[in-house]
Amino acid sequence: MTRTVLVAVTVGFAVTQVANFATTIYLHRTLAHRALTLHPSMAVGFRVLIWVTTGIRPRQWAAVHRKHHAFTDRPEDPHSPARLGWVRVQLTNVMLYRRVARDREQVVRYAGRDLPPDRLDRLLFDHALLGLGLGWAVLILLCGWPIGVSAGLFHVVLYLGLSGSVNAVAHTFGPRPYDNSATNVRWLAWMTAGEGLHNNHHAAPTSARFALAPGEIDLGWYPIRFLEALGLAGVRHRQPHFVSSRHPADRRHSDHG
Ligand SMILES: [Zn+2]
Ligand SMILES: [Zn+2]
Repeated sequence: MTRTVLVAVTVGFAVTQVANFATTIYLHRTLAHRALTLHPSMAVGFRVLIWVTTGIRPRQWAAVHRKHHAFTDRPEDPHSPARLGWVRVQLTNVMLYRRVARDREQVVRYAGRDLPPDRLDRLLFDHALLGLGLGWAVLILLCGWPIGVSAGLFHVVLYLGLSGSVNAVAHTFGPRPYDNSATNVRWLAWMTAGEGLHNNHHAAPTSARFALAPGEIDLGWYPIRFLEALGLAGVRHRQPHFVSSRHPADRRHSDHG
């Protein structure tokens, strides 16, 4: 019994990590911010991973997220802890997400131009339940009934919890080296392939690398470097491009210079 639980938790954790790497590299850095480009074969691979581990429609994720960056902590922000409280964002993140994701007009406005649905979307990737069912079937085939089912359930809870934490915890607790409302939460960065370095990300959203200071670890950056070395990915900027929020030290420097 204890062994079954242990294996289910380990397998579920591994599935969540696969989903987290696909989320940060493909949905977030590639699609939402165009911080890197992927070889078409890699893009299809990531679409399959997102489909079977999350059921998320990539253009909807990109639209909700672009709106978050465009209106951070303003009334239009889909999930602002400063406005709604971090507990509400943490616990109802998926509902807040769906409110925008289900609104076709908003998805077209924020992602319609560069991410229109294609044939593969219509055939496969727009069918979330089919993808999740397939993912669960693979887990059950590989691990058997009790472990496959419970590992899948553990993954769902963990993935939703960690995604909620990026929007709630990493906009509330932790240091803000750059002048924006997001925070850097290192334990969360370890659990989410770098997403916890959220203050850095809001400071330089089109940077494919989230770790900006010595000692910061962005696990999502290493597979990007690996794909780049293989010629399967291209990184947009070698150095981070900062938006309006700059590091206080830089600001002091330019104020005095
Ligand atoms: Zn944010
Ligand atoms: Zn972002």
